[in-house]
Amino acid sequence: MTQAYSIIDHTYDVVVVGAGGAGLRATFGMAERGLKTACITKVFPTRSHTVAAQGGISAALGNMGEDDWRFHMYDTVKGSDWLGDQDAIEYMCREAPAAVIELEHYGVPFSRTPEGKIYQRAFGGMTTHYGKGQAQRTCAAADRTGHAILHTLYQQSLRFDAQFFIEYFVLDLIMENGECRGVIAWCLEDGSIHRFRAKIVVLATGGYGRAFFSATSAHTCTGDGGGMVLRAGMALQDMEFVQFHPTGIYGSGCLITEGSRGEGGILRNSEGERFMERYAPSAKDLASRDVVSRAMTIEIREGRGVGPNKDHIYLHLEHLDPKILHERLPGISESAKIFAGVDVTKQPIPVIPTVHYNMGGIPTNYFGEVVTLKDGNPDAVIPGLMAIGEAACVSVHGANRLGSNSLIDLVVFGRAAAIRAAEIVKPGEAQKDLAKDSADFALNRFDDLRHAKGSSSTAQVRGKMQRVMQNNCAVFRTGEVLEEGKQLIGEVWNMWGDIGTTDRSMIYNTDLQETLELDNLLRQAMVTMHGAANRQESRGAHAREDFPDRNDETWMKHTLAWADEKGNVTIDYRPVHTYTLTDEIEYITPRPRVY
Ligand SMILES: Cc1cc2nc3c(=O)[nH]c(=O)nc-3n(C[C@H](O)[C@H](O)[C@H](O)COP(=O)(O)OP(=O)(O)OC[C@H]3O[C@@H](n4cnc5c(N)ncnc54)[C@H](O)[C@@H]3O)c2cc1C
Repeated sequence: MTQAYSIIDHTYDVVVVGAGGAGLRATFGMAERGLKTACITKVFPTRSHTVAAQGGISAALGNMGEDDWRFHMYDTVKGSDWLGDQDAIEYMCREAPAAVIELEHYGVPFSRTPEGKIYQRAFGGMTTHYGKGQAQRTCAAADRTGHAILHTLYQQSLRFDAQFFIEYFVLDLIMENGECRGVIAWCLEDGSIHRFRAKIVVLATGGYGRAFFSATSAHTCTGDGGGMVLRAGMALQDMEFVQFHPTGIYGSGCLITEGSRGEGGILRNSEGERFMERYAPSAKDLASRDVVSRAMTIEIREGRGVGPNKDHIYLHLEHLDPKILHERLPGISESAKIFAGVDVTKQPIPVIPTVHYNMGGIPTNYFGEVVTLKDGNPDAVIPGLMAIGEAACVSVHGANRLGSNSLIDLVVFGRAAAIRAAEIVKPGEAQKDLAKDSADFALNRFDDLRHAKGSSSTAQVRGKMQRVMQNNCAVFRTGEVLEEGKQLIGEVWNMWGDIGTTDRSMIYNTDLQETLELDNLLRQAMVTMHGAANRQESRGAHAREDFPDRNDETWMKHTLAWADEKGNVTIDYRPVHTYTLTDEIEYITPRPRVY
């Protein structure tokens, strides 16, 4: 089969797959250090999902009140419900202020305080003095922070000598004896096939929100890196932890930032009650996302939802000063108008919990190196492979990510990966030849799907998968529903075996691209469902009605999940890192869940 395709060869020191916030920060960090760097991306860099981030980026700058990176670390550990690795969390929170100042110097147009400092807003779960006060820690460029950051990072990337391959779709990793040696990519524009040989491949391919029916993420968020890792026989970590954002616009799933509640917005049920006062008496509407999403779901279930079907909740902003709305939340005012027909100065926005973020992903250490469980070593590094951003599981977010902690994760670990790569690789270092069959795995699969003649269309299989995930792997879970979910997702996997594509061309073949993306989504949907059924406790975003308590004795460990070609999922575990990096902060011991 592979002979049917001619291959164009490239050699680089490092290849970064993805040009979102994480991929771009790593790309120019590597180029800056003299490494010959390629960045491959399926969409134009500034169209990556990072562009849609609204609310902000966290860092304990203390511009608008007292703050300390240790408070940020405590909140992140607590938010993670003690599943986060504390060495990695310390690294992120400690590096965060410098990383934001660096972004400022690169040219990010942050909103400002009257004295000219970077403006910081309140966000869910962000406190001072270890839970006592409310922190203003989230640095914002109005409600278009991701847009501002992504454009600035792309501009910086152009300063350095990195080579961009834009609208190239990476198909698979080239693995040789357990080591990553490069990737195979398909140029969407002219249909050519490319083989990239590199000392290090960095996966920065983003999340897989599109495995669910209603998601705030872009249609491009198909978790391609995670799919490649599973196909190469490696494990993904903590995939059962999927974050629902409390305020997706009812119907479209479009996000209304948590910053809207940070600026004073409140949620009310059909009785007009500000119900968060009952669920989280101190944090109220700014409790962490899992808490607010569950409270909203309970209100709807108990018949206090709004609208004709009583199936959503109202977010009120009309009591806020219109000037604040205009200055600080212009983007969401526009989204509410377009997607819900609502004027936020006069009417509430109809909202519903919507899939927003994947805490799970490719397991790494805090240098960005991919790790696995090998011969009893839970931190064994896979040579030649790194992962960063939402595709990765460092794990700083553990069982639940705090709002504004993803953007900081992107830049801190994008930079960390660049630093590490420069330690491992010497610029221009010789690379041995690739095996003769190095492209076969990727191209055989590509060719099979390109000519697939089965009876299920990509849209049918994807639709079924998305509904199964939405119904059987939702905000609240039970053993029974998850067991049914395992069976149903198994049926989708069988449907996938009978997939049929119709377009056989090589140029801008969106039918084939969507089929390749579906392959990636479906494998991750399977490990997510199996991981959720397996974890018999409630922790962070994983809420089991049949096991309502967190069980640290049995379950304070990371899930590792492998999936084979038959649709079987194998599960094992890695311990949580229960130690810090330095003695400037002690290990934060697990506490009961009180909000
Ligand atoms: C609507 C919305 C609002 C958000 N708001 C915030 C916020 O205010 N604060 C916060 O901290 N977090 C926020 N988040 C989360 C955060 O924005 C994301 O987690 C983060 O931007 C992901 O960045 P990334 O670099 O990992 O991936 P992405 O930005 O998703 O980029 C992925 C990149 O990988 C490339 N790629 C993928 N597959 C392939 C392939 N097969 N071949 C080649 N290239 C490929 C894509 O082209 C793209 O360049 C928000 C998320 C959403 C959806």
